[in-house]
Parts: sequence; C-alpha cells; structure tokens
Amino acid sequence: MQNTRIKARRLPRDPGPAAWNRILPVRAGYAPLEQDVSVDWAIVGGGFAGLAAAQRLSQLVNGESIMVLEASQLAEGPAGRNSGFMIDLPHELNSESYAGSHDADIRQIRQNRSAIRFASAMAEEYGFAAGTLTAVGKVTAACTAKGQRHIQSYRQHLDSIGEPYRLMDHADMIEYTGSEFYHTGLFTPGVVMIQPAGFIRQAAAGLVERKGVVIHENTPVQQLDLTSGLHTLTTPKGKVKARRVIMAVNGHIQSFGFYPSRLLHVFTYASMTRRLSQDELQRLGGEQDWGILPADPMGTTVRKISNYQGSGDRLIIRNHATLNQSLEASQGNLNRARKMQQLSFERRFPMLKGVEMEYLWGGRLCLSLNSVPAFGEVGERLWSACCQNGLGTVKGTLAGMMAAELAAGNANNPELLEFMQTAEPRRLPPEPFLSFGANTVMRIKEWQAGLEV
Ligand SMILES: Cc1cc2nc3c(=O)[nH]c(=O)nc-3n(C[C@H](O)[C@H](O)[C@H](O)COP(=O)(O)OP(=O)(O)OC[C@H]3O[C@@H](n4cnc5c(N)ncnc54)[C@H](O)[C@@H]3O)c2cc1C
Repeated sequence: MQNTRIKARRLPRDPGPAAWNRILPVRAGYAPLEQDVSVDWAIVGGGFAGLAAAQRLSQLVNGESIMVLEASQLAEGPAGRNSGFMIDLPHELNSESYAGSHDADIRQIRQNRSAIRFASAMAEEYGFAAGTLTAVGKVTAACTAKGQRHIQSYRQHLDSIGEPYRLMDHADMIEYTGSEFYHTGLFTPGVVMIQPAGFIRQAAAGLVERKGVVIHENTPVQQLDLTSGLHTLTTPKGKVKARRVIMAVNGHIQSFGFYPSRLLHVFTYASMTRRLSQDELQRLGGEQDWGILPADPMGTTVRKISNYQGSGDRLIIRNHATLNQSLEASQGNLNRARKMQQLSFERRFPMLKGVEMEYLWGGRLCLSLNSVPAFGEVGERLWSACCQNGLGTVKGTLAGMMAAELAAGNANNPELLEFMQTAEPRRLPPEPFLSFGANTVMRIKEWQAGLEV
C-alpha cells in the first residue's frame, strides 16, 4: 500500500444549540486528546454510528483498545439535534408516502428492527434512566385531504407487507395530542422514542465505564495518514496511531475526499418550547408523551415530552429542509425555519398562545439519490459507516454495527451480507443545477404540503 495523506477539508459546524443536550444537567466532559497514543481501533465521530461501532467492537474484539474521537462534544452534533424517532418501518424521505418497493421494504424493516434491538439492549445493559428509550409507537397524522390520501396509500402499503397498525379518528387524535388540528392518524406500534442526547450520553458512559472504551471530545481529526503499518490520525494536540479506523462522520466523510459528488447534505430545523406550566399543560390536554410524523414527508413532525430528568414538559416542532452542499446552513435558513415553526405551532396549539420557543436549531442529514449508505472498506483497514439517509438513529446504529462486523473480519455474517447487497451512492447532477433544482423542488413540495407544514 502506498502512503496516502488526506486532510479534512472541513470540520462540522452546527447551527443553533442542540436543545436535547442543553435541557439536561451539565456534565463533566471527556478530555480532549493531548498526547500521542497508539490504539488497535480508532473510531472517528461519536454519534449513533460511532457509538454503535464501539459497542459492537467491544463485543467482538475483547481486550483490544478502542478510542472514539469526537470533533465537538457528544450530543452537540446531529445526534443531539434530531426528533428521536427510531422508526422500524420504511421511511424513504424521497418518496411521496415514505414507502419503497415491497422486497426492499421487508428487508429494511428487518434491518431497522435489528438496530432497534441493539440500541434497546445497550439501554438495558447500561441501565439507562427511565424515559431515555421507550417502545411507545408513533402516529402518522393528517390534517388535509391530501394528507389523508397519503395515509390511505401508506395503509395499503402496510397491508401489502403484513404490518399492523391502528387507525385513529379526530376524537382519538384530540385525546392523544390535545390538539383539534389533526383529522386522522395511523398508529404503528414498532417505533421506539428516545431522548437523543440522553441516549448518547448514557451509551458513552456505559462504553467508557464498563467496556474501557476511551472517548476524547473536542478532538477533531484533521488529517489521516494511511500506511501499510499503523494509520496516523492527526488532531490539534495529539496524534493517534491505529491499526484500524472506522469513519462514523456521516456527511463529513466527503470532507475527507470520499464519495465525491455522491452525497446530498440536507439541513432540517427544529424548535423546542420553554417548559410548560401546569396551567398550560392542563389547557393542552392529551397524553404526557407523544410523537407525530406528518403524513406528507414535507410536513411538520411534533413531539410532546414529559419531565425527563427534571428538564420539563415541552413541545418540539420540526420542519423545513434545505440542501447545503457546503455542509453549513446560513442564518437566513434558520430565520425562515423560525417563521415556519412559529406558524405551525400556532395552528396546532392555539390554547398555548404566548408560549415561546426557547431553542431553535438546525442539523445535518446525509442522503444519497438512491437512498443507500456510504458503507464499506474505503481504504486498507479504513471503513466508512456513513450516509444514513435521514434516519440515523436507526440506520446509523445499523451502519456502526455492520462496520464493526466487517472490520472485525465477520465477513460471512448473514446480516452483514444482506446489508452489503446495496448499490453505491449514485452520482449527483452537477452544480449549480443540483442545489438550485433541489431547493426549488423542496420549496414547491413544502408549499404543496399546505397545512401539513
Ligand atoms: C432536526 C432533525 C430531526 C431529525 N429527526 C430524526 C429522527 O426522528 N429519527 C432519526 O432516525 N433521525 C433523525 N434525524 C437524523 C439523525 O440525527 C442523523 O441521521 C444521525 O444523527 C446520523 O448519525 P451518525 O452517527 O451517522 O452521524 P452524526 O450524528 O452526525 O455523528 C457524526 C459525528 O461525527 C463528528 N465528526 C465529523 N467530522 C469529524 C472529524 N473530522 N473528527 C471527529 N469527529 C467528527 C460530528 O461532530 C458528529 O458528532 C434528524 C436530524 C435533524 C437535524
């Protein structure tokens, strides 16, 4: 193997605060790397993929040293910025109704459930606090005739693949959410909801305290030197020599020069209210904890959370998506999201007039045109577990598990063989057509989604 030097062209920048992390008690962080070290395994990125890879490796390569290097702080990146739906069913963001083809969907469900079982087993093993990960299902809800048609087609698809669901009428929806906004809903039982930052923090603590994994925060990998012996990862204050490296950086795999012109970098945005008072909670009504996905993929996701570890009862709203191939979102993107989310909130919760949003943020997704991961051995003893196509709590977990299997030499594992039966991410159209075209289409689809937004 020839020696290869790869410099990271960009490091992650996340717009606004990671609210799920900010509402939790302040914790002592993991110290940045400040010396040169040697390890058996280096994992770059401490999100769902990175921590799942560390967990699976700790089961497969007992006694070997594992180090996770995180550019920022755990749960400050997309892993602490998402809506926390671990969805077992197909969730194609590129599709009109989230559904894909029949066989692909059956395979996807099997894989998603395997990842959810893996995450649930971690929660069990490390004794996660109550409410961090709960198997409560989710509701896909509609408030327009178009949304109801989406639900109808989703329902037919679930029938065709033999998946259970329960239809909810207007009265059920009021009982569930307290809001009169939704006409109908479709409940599916297999979804697990997480407090994403709580999940990441406790998974990391379990790995460090119980498995001897070493984590360094505020330790961006700025350069990779790949050699036939040990690879070297350069960070601001120390170098890591590693026999094997797993890249779990989602879209930032492109910042290291891999998958050029193959990855879409989409930002989506969310707001979280301040704590609701007892009086506001009574006016709201509905269940204590619930989650709604919009029938129209361009619509609004809503969650109500109860008082997780003293962090208060709050509502979380997510909508709006922009393609930012620079991997950075602008203040203008955030401002537009703020306006859209204020309107979405007022429409749904008129009884909470005057309740302000305490946090507004954006976060990166990485998608490919053909909805496949950027996965595999991308250099000698260098693996990629990236591009989670918008469902990283599940697909990131799966990619991390599978990268660990592949890297540890379990090449005949049937789950891995099935996971690897996918095409490579398809090549994107050239700029400026790509960004202009994709952003225009998303604005039109948002407009067409009407009240579902
Ligand atoms: C508002 C919003 C709502 C969402 N809702 C959901 C949802 O309900 N369900 C769902 O499944 N998904 C959801 N997602 C998507 C989900 O958050 C991502 O898909 C998921 O975080 C990807 O996991 P990952 O581990 O692959 O990558 P990430 O979580 O992005 O983790 C990668 C880590 O790598 C680090 N990194 C990058 N470069 C370097 C470097 N050079 N050196 C060291 N570290 C580096 C980053 O700081 C980051 O912490 C949502 C996203 C957003 C923004």
